[in-house]
Amino acid sequence: MAGLLSRLTNGASDSRSSGSVRSFDHTSRALLLESLEKSDLGWFWASDAESNIAYISQPAAQRVGKPVDEIIGKSITEVFRPVENAEDRGHERPLKFQLAARNSIKPVTVKLDMGEGQSWWEIAAVPQSDDAGNFAGYHGIARDVSDTFESKRDAEKLSRYDSLTGLSNRHRMSHQLGATLTAFKASKRSCAILLIDLDRFKQVNDTMGHPAGDELLKQVASRLQRVLGDNVEIGRIGGDEFQVIMQDEDDRGVLGDLGMRIIQMVSQPYTINGMRAVIGCSVGIAIAPFDGIEEEELIKAADLALYSAKGGGRGQFRFYSSDLRDKASYRHQIEADLRDAISRNGLEMHYQPIVDVDTHKVGCVEALMRWNHTDRGMISPADFIPVAEEVGIIRELGEWALNKVCETVQTWPGDIRAAVNVSAVQFASDDFVEIVKRALKSSGIEPSRVELEITESVFVGDMERALRLFDDLKRLGVRLSLDDFGTGYSSLSYLREAPFDKIKIDQSFVRGCTADDNKNDAIIAAIVSLARALGMETVAEGVETKDELKAVTDEGVTHLQGMLFSRAIPSDEIVERLKTGDLEFIPRGPEKYRSERRTEFRKIGLIHGNDRYNVFLRNLSKTGAKVEGLLDVPVGTEVVIDLGGGQLAVACVRRSEGFSQGVEFETALISDGADGLCTRHRVSPYQIEAAGRPLRALNDDTVAAITGVMNSSTKSFVEVEISKS
Ligand code: C2E
Ligand code: MG
Ligand code: MG
Repeated sequence: MAGLLSRLTNGASDSRSSGSVRSFDHTSRALLLESLEKSDLGWFWASDAESNIAYISQPAAQRVGKPVDEIIGKSITEVFRPVENAEDRGHERPLKFQLAARNSIKPVTVKLDMGEGQSWWEIAAVPQSDDAGNFAGYHGIARDVSDTFESKRDAEKLSRYDSLTGLSNRHRMSHQLGATLTAFKASKRSCAILLIDLDRFKQVNDTMGHPAGDELLKQVASRLQRVLGDNVEIGRIGGDEFQVIMQDEDDRGVLGDLGMRIIQMVSQPYTINGMRAVIGCSVGIAIAPFDGIEEEELIKAADLALYSAKGGGRGQFRFYSSDLRDKASYRHQIEADLRDAISRNGLEMHYQPIVDVDTHKVGCVEALMRWNHTDRGMISPADFIPVAEEVGIIRELGEWALNKVCETVQTWPGDIRAAVNVSAVQFASDDFVEIVKRALKSSGIEPSRVELEITESVFVGDMERALRLFDDLKRLGVRLSLDDFGTGYSSLSYLREAPFDKIKIDQSFVRGCTADDNKNDAIIAAIVSLARALGMETVAEGVETKDELKAVTDEGVTHLQGMLFSRAIPSDEIVERLKTGDLEFIPRGPEKYRSERRTEFRKIGLIHGNDRYNVFLRNLSKTGAKVEGLLDVPVGTEVVIDLGGGQLAVACVRRSEGFSQGVEFETALISDGADGLCTRHRVSPYQIEAAGRPLRALNDDTVAAITGVMNSSTKSFVEVEISKS
């Protein structure tokens, strides 16, 4: 080394003279290389024509942790392990490709893990050829880049993963989805995405604090990982929004079940710093290539599905379908019109009687908001209240309702009470008690004639605050009732502490409680005995039929509400009837609850042989449908029912009578997450593409064109006109 250095310095001092380079002879160069080899600046290696290591610098072998002898003869990739992970590799060309091409090896990072521990090297090499011009192996250099590689990888990891939950972040999810979709488009594979949004996370965050919110998100992430397993990509793409990418899955049966499992898992209570928190979640599902080909299109579809799931209430999943696009614009319209309606007194309150179970007399009515829209007719509060909550006008709306009800009921004779619905958003505002106080005062109504209907969702988060508020309200003299009991986070423990006067059993328990195969009656019985023990009244909501009336009466509820007695009616009607005596209703309606076959009236397609017919769907169940519009179709005829949106169901005619046929599906339909049914699979856009059309997400025109077949002039069946009645 000393010799080399002295020669180098000599050389440098000689460099002014023109002979200096020439004087750096072979021996000097050999010494230069040797000194370089001994340093940590870089090492040399060579391979033979078969890509086995033929030479490696001694210090390099030391680093590898093996004697030189043991390394010689091993293949290049056995010693220098290629970095498999595309992300770790960055923009480098994979080593294997480079070796196969026998071109120069451009600097590439490899992993060494032959000895103890592991390190990362960068290697580069040039190919050598023998006298005949044949490839003879590589001469290469190598250097240790472990430090920079690891810190670069850590930095990149940070930029790709969510530091809170360890899941992928939005950036990485988008990258993964884009790459998957591009690759899958070429290989005609499908890919589903699920968007998961937590319900009421904000409430937990606001009432229990941000650290608790963070802890909750971590727990949600680990539950998601448990439900979904290792083979799917899960990411947190926003505050409380998660995304899942599932490759090669287009079965809506499987995806719907998964959606439900996610909802169930996420909705189980959490323990955070010894406190209990309950949230829910909604899931929107979109599948490529059916609902979108490109990333943006698919995400938009999943977003709309998620939005619709959230609008449908708590804890639901939805598949994307093209009519959701129309609904989104409908919603925007509602929002604009609702603001207008508030300012122009376009809303009214109607009142639905709640009758005593023994006397059928009315002591209390429920005030329900009605919006008679100039163009659209009656819009249900179930449609516009969620919009009002979301766009922040629910407080205004709620305050208006409260004042209106107090003023109105004050003018009614007798001591009949009215119940006002209170949204959880209203309840969460700091001045809520103040607003109630003002309404009581300005109307002059006796506070005991006002009841507030509150749903279980107010128990999410800060339970102490909720209990405090209940006490304040009770002190004002109003009554409290727990609405839609059983649909949310029914914790029986808080019932004992909260001063409710009444529990309203949600109509989903009443509906069909007489059917053989459900436990609704047992649930109702349990709620009733609990309420009785706590001295609370019970109302069965949504009683529609006489057999439901009998069932809930037998279970011991104290009050009844439902169409069987009366729908919500205007104040005038109540006043009119009160003038002639007590408000009393006799049950009027159907005897029996009729099960799940839903009646429909929808134009659909029926395909038989090469012909497509227009028929009307009369009812639809998982296993079959009734259609009308074709004359005398023989029993046993095989048909395909086109339910729209690429949904084709193979079916067989089982009953046939004049222009009406009952068909049985070969494969049962599944729930679409809303109240509807859908097919598991759809016509694939790849099939449509194969028929010579451009590849794009499903739309009815292309699907109809493909399934419309030929429409021959000699159709097998006669189409007849059908009218709705
Ligand atoms: P809710 O408080 O559970 O009200 C009962 C709902 O059940 C009402 O729907 C009522 O019309 C309906 N119903 C009553 N009997 C029957 C029956 O026999 N069968 C069926 N299928 N339904 C029946 P509506 O009026 O559409 O209101 C829906 C929801 O909108 C209410 O559910 C309540 O949560 C909310 N809402 C209504 N008015 C207001 C309001 O002024 N403020 C707030 N915050 N929410 C309101
Ligand atoms: Mg209510
Ligand atoms: Mg209710």
